[in-house]
This record gives sequence, structure tokens and C-alpha cells, in this order.
Amino acid sequence: MPGQGVTLADLPLRDNLRGKSPYGAPQLQVPVILNTNENPHPPSQALIDDVAKAVAAAAEDLHRYPDRDAVALRSDLADYLSAATGTPLSVDNIWAANGSNEILQQILQAFGGPGRSAMGFVPSYSMHPIISDGTQTRWVPAQRADDFTLDVPRAVAAVAEHKPDVIFVTSPNNPTGGSIPLTDLRAILDAATGIVIVDEAYGEFSSQPSAVALLDEYGSKLIVSRTMSKAFAFAGGRLGYLAAAPAMIEALLLVRLPYHLSVLTQAAARAALQHSAETLGNVAAIAAERDRVAAALAELGYAVTPSDSNFILFGGFADAPASWQRYLDRGVLIRDVGIPSFLRATIGLPAENDAFLKVSAELAAAEP
Ligand code: PMP
Repeated sequence: MPGQGVTLADLPLRDNLRGKSPYGAPQLQVPVILNTNENPHPPSQALIDDVAKAVAAAAEDLHRYPDRDAVALRSDLADYLSAATGTPLSVDNIWAANGSNEILQQILQAFGGPGRSAMGFVPSYSMHPIISDGTQTRWVPAQRADDFTLDVPRAVAAVAEHKPDVIFVTSPNNPTGGSIPLTDLRAILDAATGIVIVDEAYGEFSSQPSAVALLDEYGSKLIVSRTMSKAFAFAGGRLGYLAAAPAMIEALLLVRLPYHLSVLTQAAARAALQHSAETLGNVAAIAAERDRVAAALAELGYAVTPSDSNFILFGGFADAPASWQRYLDRGVLIRDVGIPSFLRATIGLPAENDAFLKVSAELAAAEP
């Protein structure tokens, strides 16, 4: 194969990327896949048909570039988010990109960068430091409490000490599952001198109100990031978005690549959004399954972290990587998020959850 003799060490990689690992959730074909926090319910036939029709119509214009500003899609997202949160939002409050990862990257391209820093409260979403590295933004981790909740006085002290240019608050937090109440968020916003990104990828599952309610008050620092990948069951479609003051979106226009959202993506996302009531109808069922799984795990003797999302962090393993492998050997793929003695499982369909619990019972008998 051409180039086989060249190694990464031979390349003139930027110093801050040397020795780093890429994002790497394993993509394995096994019977029960519970490792990337997707919605386990497949799209309805009606949604599939509407997406196919919309994409076919959009394909007639494939020789032209798409709407660079995705105005129709952003307008649909504004309608959805206004209805979901009770805060009126217009198209100028919304920006969209290929997944919320791209949203986060664009925010760091505009507000992070060389000489700037980004803070997160760890353990949290592993892409936040990776996107910081990719944009040459210095990553400053601050710790959560031992029970994985956000220790607000400690968080505020860390913000005051480091004065990060960007702060990530993930709510509900991945991988630990808890949400942050608006009063706690206010304390962080008041302490922040830079931008605060509230990453609400799992917002639809949360019992807490969306940070969108604070946009009017904190327009010069708050950005709320959301996605269609989780509750919306559109992970394969790649559509993330944010809500913020219109000036924030003006800032992002400076860094976005022109035509970043393909005509096919825009058409498919708009068609999927038409079915939001039906898709989000599964959220309550997933939450009920989550509560069933959490109770069963606790009954088996595992330490269950309270979850406000569609996944559960649970612990009690002497060797979490070895236990992760034991689940996999029995056909159940969950996630080792690097927290000693803990593993994370996404809530699946009832039969998948039963399969997961069956293995959990076997391992509990042998281990904790
Ligand atoms: N934020 C959090 C907290 C996540 O867990 C994820 C997905 N794992 C994302 C953002 C990114 O999701 P996407 O790019 O699919 O919108």
C-alpha cells in the first residue's frame, strides 16, 4: 500500500496533538449495542417515507450549492425549541451544523484558539478536550464532586481562578447522567468572564428546564447546544444546533465553512422534524426503562449514579475494562468511559435491556 512506511511520528504534526488519542467509541456489530447513547427506537415507516421524498426532491438541485445559512431548517428548529422550552426563539437565535460536535468546534474556532483556554467539569463528554486540542485551545479540567454532581462553590472558584475563555457545562452530563438546575447555572454564568456553553445533547430527557430560559438575561455569554442525535433518533442524519443571541451566530459565520450543511442533510432534517411529536413520544418510554434498569442494577448490588438521561453510569467493578470485555463476550456492547470501577450503559429497547441485565446479574454473582 503506498505510504505504508510513513508513521505518525514522521509527520510534522502540531506539538499539542502529539501523543493524543482520537475519539474512539468502538463500532462493533454485536446483538446488543448500548454504547453511544442513541435512541434505540428505529424511525417509523412514515418518517422514512417522508425523508426519502424530501431527499428525492432536494436531489433535483444537487448541481447547486445548498442554502448556506440553512434558513428554512433553522426556522423549523426555532419553532421546535420555542415550543419545547416555552422561550420564544426566532431563526436568528438558531444555528445548525453537522452534529453538535461541529457546533462545539465552531464555537471554539470563534471564541477559543491559541492563547485561550476552555474549562470543563470532569468526568464529562470526552470530545470537549479533543475539540479544544483540535482548535489549539488550552484545556483546563475542573473536578466534579465524588458523587459526580457539580460542586457549585468549587466550580465557581475554579472559574474565578482560571478565567477560562470558554466553559463547558454538560446537562444532563455525559457520562454521569445528572442535570444542573438553573440556579446553579446562574452561579457559573455570573462567575464567567467568557462564553458558557451549556451542552444539552440529552436535554429532552431531562427533568430540569433548558438553559434557553436564561438567554435573554445572559445573551453576551450563554450558548445552548442541542442535537437531533439523541431523543430525536437522527444520529445518522448528523444535525446539531444551538440557541444563542443573534450576535453569537454572527461570530460563528466568521468561522463556518460555506455550504457546510448539504442540501440532503437540510431536507432530511426538516422532514424528520415534521415527525418530532411521534419521535419524542418515545422519550417517556425510554425514561421508564431507565428507571427499571437502574432499580434492577441497584438490586443486584451495583452503585447506580442517578440519571436524568438515556444512559446509566454504574459501578462496583474490581476491573472495569475486564468487565466491559465480559459484557462484550456475551454480546452486549456498553462503554468503558475510563472512570475506575464504573461502566456506562445506554438504555435500549426492553429486550436489549433485559439482555444487559441478564449479563449484569451473571457478573454480579461472580464479582461485586
Ligand atoms: N454532547 C454530548 C454531551 C454528547 O454526549 C454527544 C454525543 N455523544 C454530543 C455532544 C455530540 O453529538 P452529535 O455530534 O451527534 O450531535
